[in-house]
Amino acid sequence: AGTWKSERVIASRQGPHLRLAGGGAGIINFCANNYLGLSSHPEVIRAAVEALEKFGAGLSSVRFICGTQSIHKDLEEKIARFHQREDAILYASCFDANAGIFEALLTPEDAVLSDELNHASIIDGIRLCKANKYRYKHMDMQDLEAKLKEAQKHRLRLVATDGAFSMDGDIAPLREICQLAQKYDALVFIDECHATGFLGPNGRGTDELLGVMDKVTIVNSTLGKALGGAAGGYTTGPKPLIDLLRQRSRPYLFSNSLPPAVVGCASKALDLLMESNAIAQSMAAKTQRFRSKMTAAGFTISGKDHPICPVMLGDARLASVMAEDMLNRGIYVIGFSYPVVPKGKARIRVQISAVHSDEDIDRCVEAFTEAGRTHGALS
Ligand code: PLP
Repeated sequence: AGTWKSERVIASRQGPHLRLAGGGAGIINFCANNYLGLSSHPEVIRAAVEALEKFGAGLSSVRFICGTQSIHKDLEEKIARFHQREDAILYASCFDANAGIFEALLTPEDAVLSDELNHASIIDGIRLCKANKYRYKHMDMQDLEAKLKEAQKHRLRLVATDGAFSMDGDIAPLREICQLAQKYDALVFIDECHATGFLGPNGRGTDELLGVMDKVTIVNSTLGKALGGAAGGYTTGPKPLIDLLRQRSRPYLFSNSLPPAVVGCASKALDLLMESNAIAQSMAAKTQRFRSKMTAAGFTISGKDHPICPVMLGDARLASVMAEDMLNRGIYVIGFSYPVVPKGKARIRVQISAVHSDEDIDRCVEAFTEAGRTHGALS
């Protein structure tokens, strides 16, 4: 069906310019979640080496047996401070954070209301819990309201949404969601994997961007994208909730502690972002450059003001052929088609990073224009 996935092998560090195994040097990379370019930032790498030297390769233990070091506690405190929440808990990944939260928090007396396009890890986390499940149409507030009305019969309601959706680069209407949550007595959970570090005036995320930091109760996010890109995830929110997760959340209780080098990377990334938002601003300017030049060239770019810039092509074969051709032109991008996105909505997803130069962006637009003409995506 054309859905078998193969992996390209990178023979250099993650960054705007890559060397692929078996040749392919000087490729410009537009498909990593390295939004702020911190994955290979010299200070981030140095912090990882120092943590490795001082705290060792790993803990050989889960957190509650003998796997908690001072750096884990420091990072949790820093994450909570960054998000202006009371406390935070670390996981090996955000997939784990999402897998662990719903089951720990919700009982069969409760309800969870989830956007139909939420990330797979939220869907799986919800599957693991015994709460009553409601799925509302993507960002459809009328449908959410109808489902909230229906869910009034349950003890507790939790609305769960991605802050920014990774396939479309669109942003959840959090103001409206929080208003409805208040009206129907629900809690709000957001997954901020594609927002933490760069959305909002200080990069705190979608809740900061939309002015609802005090209304969103629970934030899950990753350390594996903008925040250094190594690995790791977390939940941040009210202290009693975090205390409960430490007691009950299965991926936390039954999986090894984050390795010190990984903790070192994330901790340094947060320091850099709390010192200045210049990196995030530079990424925003480059996103704007790409979006406006591509639109002027005749392409349709989904989403708004987000570094995820899906170039909408419609046809699956066109998306894969064009992505292949782009690589021949030195631009690494990936085509997405069904079942990852709906049928007839195939696209090439471009992701902008703060470390792309203006020339990188312009070369990408040029290559798209040429490939688009060659393959009939542009007239
Ligand atoms: N949530 C969203 C929205 C994501 O895009 C991802 C990663 O693809 C995850 C969760 C999982 O994050 P991690 O890579 O830390 O497991």
